[in-house]
Amino acid sequence: MPAKQVAIVGGGWAGIACAIELADQGVPVTLFEAAKQLGGRARRVDWDGLAIDNGQHLMIGAYRETLRLMTRLGTAQHLERRQLQLSMPGFLLQLPRLPKPLHLAFGLLTAHGLSLRDKLAAARFMRHLQALNFILAADQPVSELLAHQRQPKNLIEKLWSPLCIAALNTPLQQASAQVFCNVLRDSLAGTRADSDLLFNRADLGTLLADAGETYLRQRQCEIHTCSKVEAITRSNLGFHLAGPEFTATQVVLAPHPARLPALLNGLPELAGVAAQLNGYTWQPILTLWLRFAKPLPLPFPMLGLGDSHAPWVFERNDIAPGVVSLVTSADGPHLSLPAEQLRDDYLALLAARFGPLPELLAWKTITEKRATYTCTPDMPRPANRTSLPGCYLAGDYTAGADVGLTYPATLEGAVRSGVECARLILADPK
Ligand SMILES: Cc1cc2nc3c(=O)[nH]c(=O)nc-3n(C[C@H](O)[C@H](O)[C@H](O)COP(=O)(O)OP(=O)(O)OC[C@H]3O[C@@H](n4cnc5c(N)ncnc54)[C@H](O)[C@@H]3O)c2cc1C
Repeated sequence: MPAKQVAIVGGGWAGIACAIELADQGVPVTLFEAAKQLGGRARRVDWDGLAIDNGQHLMIGAYRETLRLMTRLGTAQHLERRQLQLSMPGFLLQLPRLPKPLHLAFGLLTAHGLSLRDKLAAARFMRHLQALNFILAADQPVSELLAHQRQPKNLIEKLWSPLCIAALNTPLQQASAQVFCNVLRDSLAGTRADSDLLFNRADLGTLLADAGETYLRQRQCEIHTCSKVEAITRSNLGFHLAGPEFTATQVVLAPHPARLPALLNGLPELAGVAAQLNGYTWQPILTLWLRFAKPLPLPFPMLGLGDSHAPWVFERNDIAPGVVSLVTSADGPHLSLPAEQLRDDYLALLAARFGPLPELLAWKTITEKRATYTCTPDMPRPANRTSLPGCYLAGDYTAGADVGLTYPATLEGAVRSGVECARLILADPK
């Protein structure tokens, strides 16, 4: 066995990012994925011959590690970069092509649907956070932070609540204000390029999993799909993976955080981590895919169709002309509707926005019940390095290097975590 034989359990974006970082440094990696394809919660789905995504994903310019990874894989050209624009009935915020912080000041000043009082309150709130360097003395629910900062109801409904639900997939009353601040720092208050929105113009499999798999195989890494790791125990050489029956000197555990506690059963040293994760709760994301006979006249690739619980519609003519996805984040009354009723309600919202709609050719609903963890204040997040030498954790839930670097459950959170694991392994003298 080579000096370093790393096994990665889970081929989501965290596991893939970790594998690529290690492979680049000549470290042999063997990746085990339970599903028949890589990608995890950001994967391709076949819809009667069309390649769609399990859920619409939105990225921003501040996703540095994700962009670095895609650039390395040669897939970054599938991202369409647009200046930030948030548009909903009765509200429009556009950030102009001006340097930081003028783009935000000008954007707020010219926003439609906010009163002068709302605009001044938003500017005061952002200045307050900037003065704190976006680090709060103590974490709290976003709703409390906004109340302390005397943010008007209209501003909360139009701007802060949709932003919080979109970014943290968690309602204001439950969401971590510190993580929300981290997102605001990197988006609205970031450089103009950081706040840009990035739309995928190819399915998520093309964006990462396919190119990642090719890249890894070219570097003599092994990838086993349909290969579930049932249990992990310590062995003389490091770790034994039951299921594939594989032995590794180091192991990176990169499953969905809901799946990790079961995997840790054979490692009693990590019972504390399992206990932390057993306390997590989950938030769903529902995506309704519609295929019309003709494209809808969307003025921008993403439009809000109502308040916090209404969907956002995304134009996906890259999949086939006339395809749109409608995304509704977090828990809400929409989840208890029969699928046909939800489709009709959402068609009515589209018709209210665009007038008579073209013929509907096909539709499909995908609900991811455990799309993300509920991103609550001070939630316990394990570090990448565990107390067991050689055993690492990668995934969108791990702790950042400091509170300011902790992200919500996002692609960037997952990729950063995978990359950090690889750095720790490379620095490991074993
Ligand atoms: C519908 C939806 C919409 C989203 N929208 C956005 C968005 O707009 N922007 C954004 O940035 N993020 C978004 N996210 C979040 C983002 O997709 C996730 O944060 C990210 O994909 C998590 O990656 P991960 O690698 O940490 O975990 P996962 O993707 O969960 O990967 C874990 C992998 O491990 C595998 N596995 C589990 N157990 C085992 C085992 N025992 N053996 C082998 N393999 C195992 C699983 O099959 C899976 O492939 C969205 C998520 C969903 C579901």
